[in-house]
Amino acid sequence: MSGNGGRGTILVIGGGISGITAAIEASEAGSDVIVVEKEAFVGGRVARMNKYFPKMCPPACGLEINLRRFRTNPRIRCLTLSEVEKITGTAGNYTAVIRRNPRFVNEKCTVCGECVDACPVERPNEFNLGVTNTRAVYLPYEMAWPSRFVIDGGVCPGTECGKCVEACPYGAIDLAMQAETMEVKVTAVIWATGWNPPDATQFEGYGFGEYPNVITNVMMERYASINGPTGGKIVRPSDGEGIGSIAFVQCAGSRDENYYEYCSGVCCLGSLKQARYVREQYPEAEIHIFYIDIRSPGRLEDFFTATEADEGLTLIKGKVAKITGDPAGGSLTIEAEDALTSQKITRTVDMVVLATGMIPVGIGDTEVESDIQIDRHGFLVGEQPVAGLFATGCARRPADVATSVRDATSVAMKALKFHVE
Ligand SMILES: Cc1cc2nc3c(=O)[nH]c(=O)nc-3n(C[C@H](O)[C@H](O)[C@H](O)COP(=O)(O)OP(=O)(O)OC[C@H]3O[C@@H](n4cnc5c(N)ncnc54)[C@H](O)[C@@H]3O)c2cc1C
Repeated sequence: MSGNGGRGTILVIGGGISGITAAIEASEAGSDVIVVEKEAFVGGRVARMNKYFPKMCPPACGLEINLRRFRTNPRIRCLTLSEVEKITGTAGNYTAVIRRNPRFVNEKCTVCGECVDACPVERPNEFNLGVTNTRAVYLPYEMAWPSRFVIDGGVCPGTECGKCVEACPYGAIDLAMQAETMEVKVTAVIWATGWNPPDATQFEGYGFGEYPNVITNVMMERYASINGPTGGKIVRPSDGEGIGSIAFVQCAGSRDENYYEYCSGVCCLGSLKQARYVREQYPEAEIHIFYIDIRSPGRLEDFFTATEADEGLTLIKGKVAKITGDPAGGSLTIEAEDALTSQKITRTVDMVVLATGMIPVGIGDTEVESDIQIDRHGFLVGEQPVAGLFATGCARRPADVATSVRDATSVAMKALKFHVE
């Protein structure tokens, strides 16, 4: 038991906005919290966005406020580069085995960057979805917390090279760091493991992976971001040229029994938001959105109405059948059926954005002694039949940030009651 008046410790798996929120709320109510995040930084998918709808503020803004509460709260212990291997026990008395992978960089790091200049090895930058590279020693992104470099042990030759060790003026690099395993006693577990984008190469007829100017919505977030591969300029990937026309293909792989049957609930708003990114940079660009239904529930309807007022934006009710183009680059032709006129229509554009959905991460490789319920789409059931086990945010269902935050707050309150008397 921890010395917190009998509330015990809650384990939160995943340090995205849902996990951060659950941790803050539970800790501010008096519980100790251990957050296990597999990446080298917290913030999850939200950190990779350019702006949030509906307020259109950059993620650094909302995340920073929460991170300040998160990192200054002595009741929260955050373990990055870590994963939960196993959970055994019963409500109020679970044991979790956590594997902590080495960062190879200690707390003396000041993020000066001398190590990066010395490092000779490159690797794909997954923060930019592999569009750019980083060195083997890297900072995941400028605002990353913990604010400390990390070394990719999969590509770094270690002591055979050692150039970063020589270059670091602070003795912050330790290539001998090893993975460690630790055991913790917790009263309840919250999965906040979130979502991944689908592999869009599987969507037949859409040309992703075949035509360089077909990208996905998550790639668009990176292209539009100031810390993205093009410094925030939305350009055709094939030649870096500006765009005169663009099409968004809604429900790419979603609401489709061949791929993912469910609606991810945020992709319509996501494309409307991205149409605004385009408009900011290209006042004259033609923007087409091909959709089945526009889903903008509740107050988000205002966001839709305001975006729809753009005279250069055309909304076409119809599912896209095929996208063709030149594998070397250039323009793309979209074929669809206009559902209102039943006419086959084509549009030729400079760039296509596939609005793909959210695929649940679930419990991943964690071995759990109890039965965990997962719905038919792979989302975890929020309140598990076995007491003291919960799921929140996009681990539980596709959701926007506001919904994830509300859900995480509610789940944190429920998890509190499993303390040991
Ligand atoms: C294209 C697109 C645009 C969007 N734009 C907006 C927007 O503008 N506004 C808005 O409100 N919403 C938007 N969303 C939705 C938003 O991304 C989600 O609401 C948000 O990411 C949910 O946060 P989360 O913490 O539940 O999941 P995530 O952000 O996925 O975070 C999950 C965290 O868990 C970690 N993790 C996963 N598995 C493990 C494991 N086994 N062990 C340890 N850690 C693990 C991950 O590394 C990650 O840090 C958008 C979604 C899409 C697809």
